[in-house]
Amino acid sequence: MLIGGEIGEGKGGKSIEVKNPATAEIVDSIPRGTTADVDAAVEAARKALPAWSALPGTKRAQLMHAAAEKMKAAVPEIAKLLSQEQGKPLAHAVLEASRVAENLEYYAGLADKIRGDYVPLDDPAKFGLTIRRPVGVVAAITPWNFPLTLMANKICPALAAGCTVVLKPASTTPLATQRAIEVINSAGFPAGVLNTVHGSGAEIGDALVSHKLVNKIAFTGQTETGKRIMKLASDNVTRVTLELGGSDPMIVCDDADIRRATAAAAIGRFFNAGQACLAVKRVYVFQGVADEFMTKVADRASKEWKVGNGLAEGVKMGPLHSESQRAEVEGQVAEAVTRGAKVLAGNKRPEGKDFEKGWFMEATVLTDVPEDSRMATEEVFGPAMPIFIVNDLDEAIEKANRSVYGLGSSIWTRDLAKARRAVELIDAGYTWVNDIQVAYDQLPFGGAKQSGFGKEHGLEALEGYMEKKSVVLATG
Ligand code: NAD
Repeated sequence: MLIGGEIGEGKGGKSIEVKNPATAEIVDSIPRGTTADVDAAVEAARKALPAWSALPGTKRAQLMHAAAEKMKAAVPEIAKLLSQEQGKPLAHAVLEASRVAENLEYYAGLADKIRGDYVPLDDPAKFGLTIRRPVGVVAAITPWNFPLTLMANKICPALAAGCTVVLKPASTTPLATQRAIEVINSAGFPAGVLNTVHGSGAEIGDALVSHKLVNKIAFTGQTETGKRIMKLASDNVTRVTLELGGSDPMIVCDDADIRRATAAAAIGRFFNAGQACLAVKRVYVFQGVADEFMTKVADRASKEWKVGNGLAEGVKMGPLHSESQRAEVEGQVAEAVTRGAKVLAGNKRPEGKDFEKGWFMEATVLTDVPEDSRMATEEVFGPAMPIFIVNDLDEAIEKANRSVYGLGSSIWTRDLAKARRAVELIDAGYTWVNDIQVAYDQLPFGGAKQSGFGKEHGLEALEGYMEKKSVVLATG
């Protein structure tokens, strides 16, 4: 834990063992926090707030740039930890750790550009101003699928805005995050600006969310957890940003570039073993190209997505993060198959000595999946892709919008009119046209419907860590 500038063991004297999902071996352990640690961390963040928020933006930017340099140097060490605790291939962990430095740099560039407005009023003896103030102490709560990226998405705009932070990572992936925070903090942030507490959502998460001195909750995780957080936050009217689950539709029209579309579908579904919020979770393909699309995507699933230990050479897909996660995805696939779905690839565990202890699953592709099945209606957080055949764009959009979620989406077509219709009519926070679902620092990212609200990335994320205040100045 990091509380008030001190790396410590916390007040409970207990620890959390972190296991490698590929081998079930213990990677390391980390101190388990208590509610007393939550109090101490929030109080440290509150104490640090006045001086940190009063620091000129250029100074905050300098510290963030220095932290980015330190983070770049630490990428090999932190990426290895991330691969071991999360399960993802090392190369992907390197990309993720590198993104933290990029995110720091992006928001460092904005820290000294925060400003307000001059507003003329009806009365000539007065004028108005708007100023932006940091929202205060931020509780940042992150999941296990992209621990570093989702941590950076919160702490970087918060720091740039002049907020202080208490971070609680998922209890199964605290190691890389803790190390990254220590590295960032070593750039010279004042004590209490950045704090971490580790532990379960039920104990530490709840205590943080309910804390009277927390001004904003920045949460990424399951929709059900988000609903609980909204309820708890209402007691103190604490601000919330909720980045929740998704079930992104991908529409493939009959004029699409099928080679590129199948590559994007496979990356969109199998990257991070399918454990991504932005991921191709339902494919709606036009009848005329369905056979070609299904053959090619199934071929990619079986040949291109080598499963294995994330630290092994050439592996593209690690294990699922936990036994329960694999059981959940296998259960969703089994229900579809029992009800008549046809398996085009996968739907089994890889065999052999290397796979005995980990939570591995092969890249799976299905068609003829019932439209009221779990795979169609729930979030599938693993490497299983259902393909549905549609007759036209209206049908595809209508089915895409049936989900309670509205995070990402994509359409593949050479017809600009079709692309425009999809962009305007799909209920989602993001639509990619002829491109893989990759989020950009520059573009706001966030969900519609039960995928949450509030934005990460872009100028919009920075706005989420500030409050606009109106001022009237009487000059008469
Ligand atoms: P989760 O909701 O179980 O846990 C997320 C975090 O919340 C963890 O740190 C957990 O300890 C904490 N938590 C749990 N209960 C809590 C409570 N009562 N109060 C406060 N904190 C609590 O989510 P997960 O299983 O770790 O992550 C997977 C989910 O996250 C998926 O649904 C995925 O789609 C979603 N996700 C969304 C985005 C996005 O940006 N929209 C990004 C990544 C993941």
